[in-house]
Amino acid sequence: MHYLDYAATTPVEPAVAEEMVRVMTEGFGNPSAQYALGRAARDRLEADRQVLARALDCRREQVVFTSCGTEGDNWAIRAALWQNRRVGKHIVTTAVEHSAVLETLRALEGEGYTVTRLRPDSQGNISAAQVLEAVREDTALVTVMLVNNETGNRYPVEEIAAGLRGRPALLHTDAVQGFLKVPFSARTLGADFITVSGHKLGAPKGVGALYIGGRAANTRPLLCGGGQERGLRSGTEATAQIAGFARAVSLWLEQGEERRAHLAWCRDYARQRLGEIEGLTFVGQAQAPHILSVSLPGYPSQNIVTDLGEQGIYVSAGSACHKGKLSHVLSAMGLPKRTAAGTVRLSFGPATTREDIDAAAEALDRHRQMRFPML
Ligand code: PLP
Repeated sequence: MHYLDYAATTPVEPAVAEEMVRVMTEGFGNPSAQYALGRAARDRLEADRQVLARALDCRREQVVFTSCGTEGDNWAIRAALWQNRRVGKHIVTTAVEHSAVLETLRALEGEGYTVTRLRPDSQGNISAAQVLEAVREDTALVTVMLVNNETGNRYPVEEIAAGLRGRPALLHTDAVQGFLKVPFSARTLGADFITVSGHKLGAPKGVGALYIGGRAANTRPLLCGGGQERGLRSGTEATAQIAGFARAVSLWLEQGEERRAHLAWCRDYARQRLGEIEGLTFVGQAQAPHILSVSLPGYPSQNIVTDLGEQGIYVSAGSACHKGKLSHVLSAMGLPKRTAAGTVRLSFGPATTREDIDAAAEALDRHRQMRFPML
């Protein structure tokens, strides 16, 4: 198997799985229980929160565990709007956000909000000036992702935060793809809400975290109940998932530099190998080290994904969330339809090898030679 879809999800690292089994079978107490087993679970939970705080460079109290990146995005957006409910009902975002953001905003339009969606240039770039020009007196929220999941473009969140200083609009960034791949500090990033997710990093699916800091205050609880997560998100904490998340993040903290260098090597080597294929073009900027999108104009990406998949080579046609629809990211970039429809994404992880990339490059070239363009 040649797995080149780490931006969709990652295998759980063995050390992470071992840690989770230990928590499930030995340290399984309810963190709210008063006896020793419960206290140990609570201490462990807070130690895990501290790991996330260290990775985000923030205070422990600013980290709330969630069930996924989608939850973090939904919650941050609604919490920011609730906090700024007297400011107005205008939201600024980009047309290239993940559907967790875009669909939340679409729902909010039905509730009376107005959304400005900024379009990128043909390389997928959006400038801070573009974002700041769109901000109005009644803008309650600006939500701009850190790293795009299809192109690997990195957006100027720091500059946007600096430009918003002194203005009421709160800033959320979806850092699900950027977290630990593109180093940042919550302090210098300047966003009020930052969403991250475990399964892009060697942790299991079903766990994430939301940073609530900066000017975020009086955050509206997501779930009411037993008062867990400082009353913000009730429900017995998913201690094994959280322990797995923290263990995976610890591995990134310990080995981050080597891992990022390896990812950048994979991207650059893939760029070189795939660049040799006749007619192939690169899509977006691939500023993040783990994502590279390429197009074989005229060759439908679904066919490429199926053909390579049958050979045990796993790549994706844009975001895994699109399921066959032409990607909204590539459409927003204004790419010719043949280019957009022929785009596949390769994404890399710590275990990606030269052989994986060679296999993908050879299979893509074979696909080009054996099939006729259909578009
Ligand atoms: N945001 C981005 C940029 C993503 O790439 C993803 C997952 O693909 C998500 C949000 C959603 O995260 P989760 O799968 O944890 O809900």
